[in-house]
Amino acid sequence: MHYDVVIIGAGIAGLYTAINLPRDKKVLIVNKAHPWECNTFYAQGGVTTAKDDSDIPVHIDDTLTAGAGLCNKEAVEVLSQNSQEVIQDLINRGFEFDADANGELLYTQEAAHSQKRILHAGGDATGRYLHHFLLEKNPHPMLEKATVIDLLLEGDQICGIVVMHRGERKEIMADSVVIASGGVGALFEYHTNASSISGELHGICLEKGIELENMEMLQFHPTVYVDNSTAQKQLLTEALRGEGAQVVDDLDYRFLFDYDERGEMAPRDIVSRAIFDYAQKTKKQVYLSFKSFDYDYFKHRFPNIENRFADLGFNLPKDKVPISPAFHYAIGGIKTDLQGHVPSVKGLYAIGEVASTGVHGANRLASNSLLEGLVFAKRAAAAIIHDVGTQCSGPFVKNNETLYIEGDKEKKEQLRRIMWDNVSIVRTTEGLEGALAAIDTMLKSSIGRLLKLRLLTAQKIVRSALERKESVGVHYRQD
Ligand SMILES: Cc1cc2nc3c(=O)[nH]c(=O)nc-3n(C[C@H](O)[C@H](O)[C@H](O)COP(=O)(O)OP(=O)(O)OC[C@H]3O[C@@H](n4cnc5c(N)ncnc54)[C@H](O)[C@@H]3O)c2cc1C
Repeated sequence: MHYDVVIIGAGIAGLYTAINLPRDKKVLIVNKAHPWECNTFYAQGGVTTAKDDSDIPVHIDDTLTAGAGLCNKEAVEVLSQNSQEVIQDLINRGFEFDADANGELLYTQEAAHSQKRILHAGGDATGRYLHHFLLEKNPHPMLEKATVIDLLLEGDQICGIVVMHRGERKEIMADSVVIASGGVGALFEYHTNASSISGELHGICLEKGIELENMEMLQFHPTVYVDNSTAQKQLLTEALRGEGAQVVDDLDYRFLFDYDERGEMAPRDIVSRAIFDYAQKTKKQVYLSFKSFDYDYFKHRFPNIENRFADLGFNLPKDKVPISPAFHYAIGGIKTDLQGHVPSVKGLYAIGEVASTGVHGANRLASNSLLEGLVFAKRAAAAIIHDVGTQCSGPFVKNNETLYIEGDKEKKEQLRRIMWDNVSIVRTTEGLEGALAAIDTMLKSSIGRLLKLRLLTAQKIVRSALERKESVGVHYRQD
């Protein structure tokens, strides 16, 4: 099998790249699970856009401020300056964002945005609507339930991938490979991510000596219902706080104002740390309260949340919901330039959550990630069309490691607990060193390849967290 382009991942980044590649290119999208099992599908709040040209500098400023000094300013400029174009492209292709009776687009606000500039669809189902739309528009074939377990390289040239599909290992050759495999959710006990998001491609890159950066920068969402039994926990979008939901204790006390004068509208890292600290100090349960909402408005604006929580036994907006922070978003990742190139490997690109363009710095501004997926996918597609591909001669050294072995499941659970206890919202040298030792021990034990890849990714996160001694943005060192 030989393709011009293989895209790993069918979320917003993978699909929008595919849509921007001409039909006469031989393109294959490879995807680990059902197409909808990705973080894009679960996105609730919306997509940021500069509302008009005058908002571009303001959006850039908000993003740089949230990023706490670690953003790549040029990447942020690219993000904001291209936002209106990609949103207009979606609209021209037929996508319908929520609008009022006169057809005027409706914008919402989330924490750390200085004004309303977030577009949404289906009320609180932006990701689902957008993902469905992109799947419909995608003109290229997709190989589903195919897990990428290796990259094929010849010197500094990408040659293809190895997938496990229907119990068989298959080599798929390609002139260009785009990694759009998302974040690292499955490494944590509490997370909001799709079940397919487990950081394997990060691990493969580490094996190949491909640079990952800012891996310690992990965003924890402050308002998540974690009492359900599945690994993926139920997010309560930030747009709820943007429109009046309040973080309270059992006596309805709004303690966030004791930590930051912006209260519910402070950036995510501050709200997460405040909830974590207050719950630890007082041993009280923290809740999200919706009492400021009118019932009909809530039902119309947040229909999916209302439904999902009704299934869990809550009557929203009347009831308050117990919440905890949970892992949400990987800020760092595979280092790329602003066209998505992975600098050390010809023909290799990374985009979306798996990539590190420097857009988010030390803290992602809410709803900038779907936008990042769109803007950088379009740029990567343009680069692929422009770049000259080279074919490899092979044959390649085969990796014959067994994918799973008995005991992996228990070790995965152990890893998830270690990461949550020691590498989450508040970090200490002692906790990080303990986590690293436990990961190293597991890596030396008898394990399958897929667990090994997760462990390599986790090891890199912990090492990066140890290396960054100062607290900045989402990386908080108690010592
Ligand atoms: C609950 C939730 C709500 C969110 N809300 C918002 C929001 O309102 N606004 C916003 O901007 N952002 C939001 N985010 C973040 C945003 O959704 C993600 O950052 C973004 O969708 C990532 O897109 P992606 O294409 O990079 O990855 P994903 O959409 O996660 O897609 C990754 C793809 O890679 C595939 N894959 C992974 N590993 C392999 C492998 N080994 N082999 C083959 N395929 C593989 C997966 O199956 C999947 O198809 C939210 C995230 C979550 C979890």
